Amino acid sequence: MNTKKSEQLFDEAKKYIPGGVNSPVRAFKSVGGTPHFISSGIGSKMIDADGNEFIDYIGSWGPHIFGHNPEFIKNALMAAIENGTSFGAPTEIEIKMAKLITELVPSVEMVRMVNSGTEATMSAIRAARGCTGKEKIIKFEGCYHGHGDFFLIKAGSGALTFGVPTSPGVTKGNAADTLVADFNNIDSVKNLISQNKNEIAAVIIEPVVGNMGTVRSNDLFIRELRNICSDEKIVLIFDEVMTGFRLAKGGAQEILGIQPDLSTFGKIIGGGLPVGAYGGKKEIMEMVSPSGPVYQAGTLSGNPLAMNAGYASLSYIKENPGIYKILEDKSSYLAAGINDAIKSCGKKFQINRVGSMMTLFFTEEPVNDFNSAIKSDAKLYAKYFHEMLNRGIYLPPAQFEAFFVSTAHSKEDLDKTIAANFESIKKAYN
Ligand SMILES: *Cc1c(COP(=O)(O)O)cnc(C)c1O
Repeated sequence: MNTKKSEQLFDEAKKYIPGGVNSPVRAFKSVGGTPHFISSGIGSKMIDADGNEFIDYIGSWGPHIFGHNPEFIKNALMAAIENGTSFGAPTEIEIKMAKLITELVPSVEMVRMVNSGTEATMSAIRAARGCTGKEKIIKFEGCYHGHGDFFLIKAGSGALTFGVPTSPGVTKGNAADTLVADFNNIDSVKNLISQNKNEIAAVIIEPVVGNMGTVRSNDLFIRELRNICSDEKIVLIFDEVMTGFRLAKGGAQEILGIQPDLSTFGKIIGGGLPVGAYGGKKEIMEMVSPSGPVYQAGTLSGNPLAMNAGYASLSYIKENPGIYKILEDKSSYLAAGINDAIKSCGKKFQINRVGSMMTLFFTEEPVNDFNSAIKSDAKLYAKYFHEMLNRGIYLPPAQFEAFFVSTAHSKEDLDKTIAANFESIKKAYN
């Protein structure tokens, strides 16, 4: 595969942009090699600067549930751009968008638009702290909630109940306020709550995780978590930045049958433009400025281009509820094919799949939390990734991420991907 142009661009990019990219995972650091610079995307395909074509399973890391550049989103954007790109004053499309979100996700009674998933989670935590008057939060090891200071915390060792920063620049103060529990382990949550009685403002969780690879919360765990939060007056936040509008029109909370107090969104909600949102119970959301004292603002929040792209996406979802069955069928077909490829090598690698999110973990033991996820052989994944890439299949360039299937993936795409798996899993050993 010719990658000359991408190599030139990467060298040039590294002179002006830290690591040559505007978000770290794009740099291929965990799989090695040079990232491909993309020049266009259409449907299930991406084309790089050297003209190589790939069947894409990252979909811009989640947003492209209908594939790249679908006609109806393009049309919505072209119509919107005629009227101007930003006003800093309210527009009608923001009401339509907010109303549609509350229709699709019943636990959301009121919603505030922001510009990224990170902004949504940071703001949701502030609202939870503001309305409870408490300061500490609980997150789960292996869940990702964007790059806010108080999320870049991992579990402390031994007797430490507070976490430790995972990045320089995050203060000890932040770490002291963030407690880290084990995913799918309700006792770890109970312990933290009893050691910090009446101090916990919020528990934030990816109800189906994508960011340690795909891991579903088990039903009993998530139900108990809901009950404990209600009993202890802790705000339960479902971070649905990845799962929202992907797993069902109402997100992971719809398939799990659990209503959080607040939810955060991103990715699909913007139809490929930079959008995030947080929303939930009216009594909490009314605490947010200007109706309440919890300050939160944004110059470009509710931007008309972003709202029109997002509204086109969510309207399509509302009018075509059958897409989730289509995504399920395509995804289960793909997962079954990859599973056959694994078996043909005499292995028992794990495929975790929930709807159109799936991860092939290179471990033979079930993956249901962070500790089991990291048993995966990331070096083997890196080899597999490059074998797949060489066969024209673009997977996430890191083991602990999800593959995303879109409605644009054709049977031919899936069959080609399965055939590439048979060769690539075998080759990864040699
Ligand atoms: C992607 C993601 C975020 C961060 O969203 P950005 O738009 O990248 O800031 C937060 N939470 C989850 C669950 C995500 O998948």
